[in-house]
Amino acid sequence: MMCLFSARTELLPHTDAELHRAPGQQLRDMAAGMTRSWNPLLGSIIALWQPESVFPLTIRSSVPLTPWPTSTVTLLGDAIHAMSPAVGVGANTALRDALALATQLGKAARGADLVSSLHAYEADMTAYGFDAVRTSARYGQQRIGQAPLPDPTS
Ligand SMILES: Cc1cc2nc3c(=O)[nH]c(=O)nc-3n(C[C@H](O)[C@H](O)[C@H](O)COP(=O)(O)OP(=O)(O)OC[C@H]3O[C@@H](n4cnc5c(N)ncnc54)[C@H](O)[C@@H]3O)c2cc1C
Repeated sequence: MMCLFSARTELLPHTDAELHRAPGQQLRDMAAGMTRSWNPLLGSIIALWQPESVFPLTIRSSVPLTPWPTSTVTLLGDAIHAMSPAVGVGANTALRDALALATQLGKAARGADLVSSLHAYEADMTAYGFDAVRTSARYGQQRIGQAPLPDPTS
């Protein structure tokens, strides 16, 4: 079972670097302090956290990209479409990439042009991958208060 306290960086009393250096007890005390005015039952759960099991996690989202010229170097998974965990589809999307890429590499192995095969993979992957990034960002805004993605028109 995982118990998660999350907040936007600017609402936290410490920088990312300080959080990653802080012992578990300090992290637990920070979560307890920031939720002191909430339902006391929550405070009693936080008080039970074992300090050695508490760790910080910095979560960032990618921003959808416009297409780039395909080469023989490509990307998959979080390396291209890291997303908020609010919907829980990052690993699922990485596995979908693996299947899509393997399918295109199979076509290249059977004689299709390699760069054209990789281009087909990238066109497919960026469409569903960045859709997942946008959906995750939307839910992340609603559920865990994350910042919205930048407006693509500005
Ligand atoms: C709190 C949280 C909850 C999540 N819940 C879900 C969920 O419920 N469902 C879901 O689908 N997804 C979930 N995700 C997202 C999921 O964890 C990621 O999308 C997924 O792990 C991405 O897989 P990946 O293989 O692309 O990258 P990673 O899992 O990051 O794998 C990359 C690997 O490369 C290694 N590496 C990095 N640099 C080098 C190097 N130079 N040389 C060699 N190795 C290197 C890293 O150590 C790592 O092992 C969650 C994420 C978070 C943070």
